Formats: sequence, structure tokens, C-alpha cells
Amino acid sequence: MEVREPRSQDWWPAVVWMAVLLGLAVLAVFLVVRFGVGPWALLLIIPGVWLLMRWMSRAWAYRCPQCGEVFQLTTLGQLKAINMGDERNVRCPKCGQRSWVRTLRKVT
Ligand SMILES: [Zn+2]
Repeated sequence: MEVREPRSQDWWPAVVWMAVLLGLAVLAVFLVVRFGVGPWALLLIIPGVWLLMRWMSRAWAYRCPQCGEVFQLTTLGQLKAINMGDERNVRCPKCGQRSWVRTLRKVT
């Protein structure tokens, strides 16, 4: 798997997605308030979050600082990983070490 340092434009799809999700959240709240539909309208957001995480799990990779292993997270792993800027706290699948690693962009 080939990876490279992320560029700022790599973040755009994620930013756009989050804007869309925010829009969906506002829409869902509006539907609830205006038309009194149940809070199930908020469920609209769940598939959106899932799609974002799935995209991230495919596009991003991480390099273990302990053993140098380059790996990707599963969609669920993306959801569970703690995010601080462009660093994430993830567990290496090879050596099992949990550490803060920089997000890398996978070259396809
Ligand atoms: Zn490792």
C-alpha cells in the first residue's frame, strides 16, 4: 500500500460531507419542530455518518510509529478512533501498540 503526506485539499471531501450532515441535522430538527414528525427524522443522519466513515476508512491510512506497519481502519474502527486534528489514537494490527499517529493519504 502506498501512502503520502496529506495535502490540505485531501480534507475537502470530509469537510463537504460534514457540511451536508450538518444541513441534514438542521433539516431533521426543522421537520421535527415544524411538522411535529417524530425524532426519527434524525435517523437520516446515521447513514450519512456511516458513508463518511466508510470513505475515510478507504482513503486514509496510518503508519505505526513502533513497527512501521502501514494499515487502514475498518469503518467501525474509524468511528471508534479518537481524533485530534490530523492525529488519531489507533491500535496497530501488527504489534498491538496503541499510539497517536498522523493520518496519511492512501495513493490509489
Ligand atoms: Zn505496530
